[in-house]
Amino acid sequence: MQSLRRVLLSRVVPNGHHHHQQRALHLAPPFLLDDYTPRYMTLSSVDAARKRSAAYAHLRRCNLCPRLCGVNRYETTGVCLIGAETAKVNVIAPHFGEEPCVQGHRGSGSVFFSGCNLRCVFCQNHDIAHRRNGQDLTPEELGGWFVKLQEVGGVHNVNLITPEHVVPQVALSILHARHNGLTVPIIYNTSAFDSLASLELMDGLVDIYLPDFKVWNTATSRRLLKADDYAATARESIKAMHAQVGDLCFTADGIAKRGLLVRHLVMPGYEAEGAEIMRFLADEVSKDCFVNIMEQYRPAAHVGKPGRGSKEGERRYAEINRAVGQDEISVVRKAAEEAGLWRFCDPPRHEGFSI
Ligand code: SF4
Repeated sequence: MQSLRRVLLSRVVPNGHHHHQQRALHLAPPFLLDDYTPRYMTLSSVDAARKRSAAYAHLRRCNLCPRLCGVNRYETTGVCLIGAETAKVNVIAPHFGEEPCVQGHRGSGSVFFSGCNLRCVFCQNHDIAHRRNGQDLTPEELGGWFVKLQEVGGVHNVNLITPEHVVPQVALSILHARHNGLTVPIIYNTSAFDSLASLELMDGLVDIYLPDFKVWNTATSRRLLKADDYAATARESIKAMHAQVGDLCFTADGIAKRGLLVRHLVMPGYEAEGAEIMRFLADEVSKDCFVNIMEQYRPAAHVGKPGRGSKEGERRYAEINRAVGQDEISVVRKAAEEAGLWRFCDPPRHEGFSI
């Protein structure tokens, strides 16, 4: 793990023979920013106008996510069941359940959108993502909330959670908020089931991409996520995200400001797929990719429920109806390290910040 202290040390001892110190000397400066201006603040008014019209065009023929419904969302809805005028939002609040570099000491300004374009049987956020609860907000109202999170909540960033199906509304809301004083970075937090068209629309508006890469095999994504093309889509999406914002960078206060942070929730019995995901990140995205290998899987949503018409005692998705083991977590972590990844979201082992 890299630490601020090690970075400082490596500067003091530039000729140190330790591998990581040499690496830190070479790589640390690009990850430390003196100052940061969010990308949406540097967008020209011409580009902002272009984004606005692209957003409306997408809504009239929606191919914004890999479901490719092709519907006019002003008249009807597609798989995500969300129209064009508003976005359905479940919770807006400062949140402390994120990575330390994202939540900091004042929290991350989380905006949980209702609905999702995946149907994970183990959804860890089932109440929000699969039910259509929540309030319908126009882009102007949503942008107003971003500013409120910043002004009243004092948050470090605005964290858009499962926005894949409301990208145009979100793009419009960011453009609205920038005129009303928003200055904190925007985080785009997805399941990586994005389309290249929607990422292009978000280019210049998002500072931090926070995708979750869930499973690797087609058979697994078909069974557990209800999407055949998940992994191929996730690979393309994550590469496109990295091309836009690069590796994760911090300011000296330890708060992430720009770049890519990939999450992977280790699944019981699927650790080999987690290992594949780590190798992909190292080989095809960046060895300096910041990764959070998450250990908190718990059976949820449809997992472990009695199956319809099944025999007494039979449970659905029985193979993942348990917590994940330490041995399984180690397999993924070891694969990541062997592939050359080194920036992990570990708890700090010292009094400084993790960077
Ligand atoms: S965002 Fe909704 S309407 Fe658009 S393609 Fe995806 S599921 Fe279909």
